[in-house]
Amino acid sequence: MRIALASIFGAALFGFVRAPPASVEHGTLRLHYVQKPIGYERYDIGHDGDALQLSSDFDFTDRGGNVHLNATLRTRADYTPVHFTAKGKSYRFVNVDSDVAVEGTSATVRADGATANVMLPAPFYTVDGYAPFAAQMLMLRYWKQHGQPRVIRTIPGSPGNDVFIESRGREAIRIATKTVRLERFVIDGVVWGRETLWLDDDESLAAAITRAGGLSFEAVREDLESALVAFVQRATFDRLGDLEGITRLTPPLKKGTYAMVGGTIVDGTGRAAIADGVIVVKDGRIADVGPRASVVIPDGVATVPITGKTVIPGLWDMHTHVTQVEWAPVYLGAGVTTVRDMGNEFEFITALRKDINGGRALGPRLLLAGLIDGPGPNAFGVYYASTPDEAKQVVGKYHDAGFEQIKIYSLITPPMVEAISAEAHRLGMTVTGHVPNGMTIDQAAIAGMDQIAHLAIRGEAGSDDVNRIIGVLKEHKTVIDPTQSWNELLGHAAGAPIAAFQPAAPKIPPPLFRLFSNAGTAGIDSATARTRLERGLRIVKALHDAGVPVVAGTDEGIPGHSVHREIELYVEAGFTPMEALQAATIVSARAMKLDGELGTIEKGKRADMVVLNANPLEKIQNVRTVRWTIKDGKVYDAPALWRSVRFQP
Ligand SMILES: [Zn+2]
Repeated sequence: MRIALASIFGAALFGFVRAPPASVEHGTLRLHYVQKPIGYERYDIGHDGDALQLSSDFDFTDRGGNVHLNATLRTRADYTPVHFTAKGKSYRFVNVDSDVAVEGTSATVRADGATANVMLPAPFYTVDGYAPFAAQMLMLRYWKQHGQPRVIRTIPGSPGNDVFIESRGREAIRIATKTVRLERFVIDGVVWGRETLWLDDDESLAAAITRAGGLSFEAVREDLESALVAFVQRATFDRLGDLEGITRLTPPLKKGTYAMVGGTIVDGTGRAAIADGVIVVKDGRIADVGPRASVVIPDGVATVPITGKTVIPGLWDMHTHVTQVEWAPVYLGAGVTTVRDMGNEFEFITALRKDINGGRALGPRLLLAGLIDGPGPNAFGVYYASTPDEAKQVVGKYHDAGFEQIKIYSLITPPMVEAISAEAHRLGMTVTGHVPNGMTIDQAAIAGMDQIAHLAIRGEAGSDDVNRIIGVLKEHKTVIDPTQSWNELLGHAAGAPIAAFQPAAPKIPPPLFRLFSNAGTAGIDSATARTRLERGLRIVKALHDAGVPVVAGTDEGIPGHSVHREIELYVEAGFTPMEALQAATIVSARAMKLDGELGTIEKGKRADMVVLNANPLEKIQNVRTVRWTIKDGKVYDAPALWRSVRFQP
């Protein structure tokens, strides 16, 4: 913590009276992943003449994998960067090796394996992802000292890597007997989407809520640790307000009662497409659907011409972690109307679901799987079970909160798989998740897991062992979400461009583009990566041929676009385009016991549909041509949704 005089002089109240900085400043932040404490960031800021010298040691261990980042930042007294370095990892699969040396009005930037001399935009800051938090803290101080500019350009990063900062005012956090006064800031653009950071009266970082590797990441100063959940709730409240703002700016183009006329209807049942079809939507449901000749459009109902376009059922993502509100417009923009969340901050995801269901915020239908792991240093999340009583307690907590499912994680023991499954089934819930350590996928299915996340089958399709496993899964009606787009994204040869398999790459925001460009597998070439992927695709096809339900899930990946990629990969595996679409619609709905309401375009079902500019049965890549997304009968303009969260449509 800063040893400073600032608070004595009332800087606390007015913010602009600055005491001279003390000679040295230390900070220790406790780092958390999905609220579990996993490590520390320790930083020092020393003074060297007029310059400040920050050094940060950022270190955590997540599920057994160590992540370590060393960073330095030298600035002028007014926090203008002079020299920035960061080396190590900022997440398990994100490598960082950056050096930015400022000389006058330009800088030599080494990052992403290349060196360039760039003219410095004004104002600018040097920051490379969410870590270290101390660099974001100095960026906030810079912003305050430089008249709170509307936008700050950041390097390293591609042009357009703009950061927006906003103060959301002052508040107090109570810790035992003391009250700590804080100012809350929203930063948008260091990572994709908004983060919340708090500074105290000395401008020391008190807490930060962000994401790493797509999952919730929380940093809290050591002495404020007990306020972790309060910080999460405060950030959640802010984010819902932000999403409600986006919702007001991107209202539905149409709702209520209307008829879409003249398009091709791929109803998702497997029947042939209807040419020149009509869909009548009434109060959020499909009132009628069929060829123009056989559907009567009631008098006075507005018609929407969609000639030349193709309508498919709303898509599903069966494996995601909606850890930020920006996912809501992205999913609708991509034509995804239902998602299953596979593990999140409890407070955030339940509040977001309430806001969407209550109609205050736009977003996909959220189905929730509650994460449960065995205890220990390598555990994931903060809900554990190592005894039948604990299993009952955690399952009960999720059930009471309206979760549809339980998600079992790797450290759950075989007897606990049985206990959790039995309790979940007793309460009418289903069970999905990872195959726990020390079990095989067929054992997990026999022990009671209804569904399995990821393609946890070794060996080659067609081998006796794989055939035997598939037989067990078939017998138990086990549902598989094989997350092949995720395997492709992380398994691609490091350094190879992601645009080679993800055509949407140029449209994603710069922080995500850099993040995924720096992900990938080192030491292999693209041919090897593809060979590995194809082994998985052959097993996915074998599962499908055997009648094991395959549901489309991404584990997030490239927001929205990975859903399309997952569907494309099923066609590469040998599914017909119709079968691939069904994996992301009716098969998913059936797996969640919602096929009576969702999953196809049929009379009486909820009006969740996607209007595409081109027919995906002719070419599966056409699933990317989303023009309008309809959820509960509300018609949203897809390009506007993408733009609302800094994607190119
Ligand atoms: Zn996941």
